[in-house]
Amino acid sequence: MSRPRQIFVDGHYVDAHNAKCSVLEHGLHYGTGVFEGIRCYNTEDGPAIFRLDAHLARLEQGALALGMNVDIAALHDAAQQVVLRNDFEEAYIRPIVYYGGGSLHLDVEPLDLFSVVAALPWTSHLGNKVVRMQSSPYRRNPARAIPPLKLTGGYVNSILAKRHATKYGYDEALFVDDDGYVCEATGENIFAVFGDEVVAVEHCDALPGITRDTVMALTGAKARRMHMVELRQADEVFLTGTSAEVVPVTTIDTHEYGAGPVTRRIQQAYQDVVHGRIPTRGHWLTYLSTYNKALRRSA
Ligand code: PMP
Repeated sequence: MSRPRQIFVDGHYVDAHNAKCSVLEHGLHYGTGVFEGIRCYNTEDGPAIFRLDAHLARLEQGALALGMNVDIAALHDAAQQVVLRNDFEEAYIRPIVYYGGGSLHLDVEPLDLFSVVAALPWTSHLGNKVVRMQSSPYRRNPARAIPPLKLTGGYVNSILAKRHATKYGYDEALFVDDDGYVCEATGENIFAVFGDEVVAVEHCDALPGITRDTVMALTGAKARRMHMVELRQADEVFLTGTSAEVVPVTTIDTHEYGAGPVTRRIQQAYQDVVHGRIPTRGHWLTYLSTYNKALRRSA
């Protein structure tokens, strides 16, 4: 995989090998940062970033929780520039804002804020990927302990659950709460299909996923809480996430599901929307050609 040549660091585009931080950054020690995972897809009209505004709005929410005053317009600009400057057609865009400098005290008010936006090359593939899940012995961070946003420190919870699942031969972990209600996966939301009915599983500790929101808009799926007993009775189960897109679940513990027709249809609809083939959803795409034209006009 080729690496990015240039990364946005605090208002400047720097060579990737010079984009470094100190071993004493607050964010490294305590996970005091907020990040996003965003995709840029190649479309008939060139590269376009999918739901950039929604991703940055969620980042801003996380930043507010940490008391950070983030320049969202600068990140919006940088997300486009890092793709253009690296000549990527498709990319995974990773903005991160974190505390650093100053001291290692837990009071973050006096600290410096660092902003980074990187783009990594990423080719989408409509493969036959399926997921085998283990219901995790780990519990999801409760929202009242760590809000379900993309705060860097919160991801230790996902990593512990994922390590456990893969150790036992599964691909992914499913968080279930103490009462048996389904929450989410370590980096994806979960849906269940009953006949033609598509249900977006809702849980107060789950991240409000943008792919989930997209699939709900495309299918009219309703959101509701779901117990594990009901999930086991579903005809199909699938996960949604920016990286995973829409992926069928074939196994949860010892229970098997078919990678069925409804999931396949939703996978195709999602590919159509991210690749700009559904004109009514064009507002979800930020076309980089528009950015280039605006730059030429202002030059
Ligand atoms: N849940 C968690 C814990 C995640 O990290 C992600 C990935 N961002 C998701 C769900 C899916 O969210 P999205 O569709 O916005 O990528």
